[in-house]
Amino acid sequence: MKKEDPLLEVSKLTLDYRLGKRKMRALDRVSFQLEKGEIMGVAGESGCGKSTLGLSIIKLLPKIAEIKRGEILFEGRDLLKISETEMNKKIRGQKISMIFQNPQNALNPVFTIEKQMTDILRAQRKHKDKRVRSSRFYRDQAIERLRSTGIADPSARLSNYPYEFSGGMKQRVMIGMALSSGTSLLLADEATTALDVTIEAQINRLISDLAAEYGTSVLYVSHNLGVLAELADRIMIMYAGRIFELGTTEDVFDSPSHPYSAALLESLPSRQARGKRLLSIPGIVPPLDNLPCGCSFHPRCKFAENICKREVPPLEQVTDGHWSACFLDSKRGRKRLKWI
Ligand code: SF4
Repeated sequence: MKKEDPLLEVSKLTLDYRLGKRKMRALDRVSFQLEKGEIMGVAGESGCGKSTLGLSIIKLLPKIAEIKRGEILFEGRDLLKISETEMNKKIRGQKISMIFQNPQNALNPVFTIEKQMTDILRAQRKHKDKRVRSSRFYRDQAIERLRSTGIADPSARLSNYPYEFSGGMKQRVMIGMALSSGTSLLLADEATTALDVTIEAQINRLISDLAAEYGTSVLYVSHNLGVLAELADRIMIMYAGRIFELGTTEDVFDSPSHPYSAALLESLPSRQARGKRLLSIPGIVPPLDNLPCGCSFHPRCKFAENICKREVPPLEQVTDGHWSACFLDSKRGRKRLKWI
């Protein structure tokens, strides 16, 4: 791989879920790149394809999923062509890791934190270095991981069971296990949604610091745009399986180009809007097996025109590095779009 190549390059990824005779297009020609050390925030309402995107990259999709076309190039290789054995041995948990909303489900309640951490460290090490290492070596590594995620008195904490850790501490353990020195891509799916706001802020700072320290790239899926504004270098807005807008955090937040992004941003509580009623986007995300023709957002969009009901707007560059899929873009030029 050349030095300047992106770490991850997803092109035209198209995926269906099949339930009996029902076919749901969960991802539709999704294309983007993720640079080394970059944090990309992925936002949108529930059912827009954010989690499916993360699961496609780490290849942990449910059986009903079928990738119809596209590529997921990681370090120059198409993950879709890599065998399950190689994914397990060399990629998943080694180079690409994922943390979920509920760390409780990822930790085994009957084993100590030490056992769970050292087992993973042993498995990671086994693939890189065949030398036999002592239990002491792995214990020291586990202590170092816990310390790096801000857990106080890590050597004493190793003998605890998961039930003795709070939700925030369990999430720190998961991050400590995920961000090994070899992890180049971290997929975080609503990783802090179940935590209270103070712990959420601490965990997000931790992800950002560790990503900077290890040069790890992060795909951070969240419905919370406020969190993404703090954390992400770029933002991708998804709706009904498609990318609606993609750009730097500054571009998307200061000059949203797509009506859906503008509406999402105007639904965010802010100090300036205190005392005013927040915008609620009319209607709901359409079911994936019954998407409206043309632009899938048109039944909810106050700017919709006739063309929007007939044709699908392509994702096009509005300014350098800022992309949007809306027929309004060419008419509006660089004027800031406001929903209200
Ligand atoms: Fe609204 Fe039309 Fe733009 Fe879709 S293409 S977001 S319906 S204006």
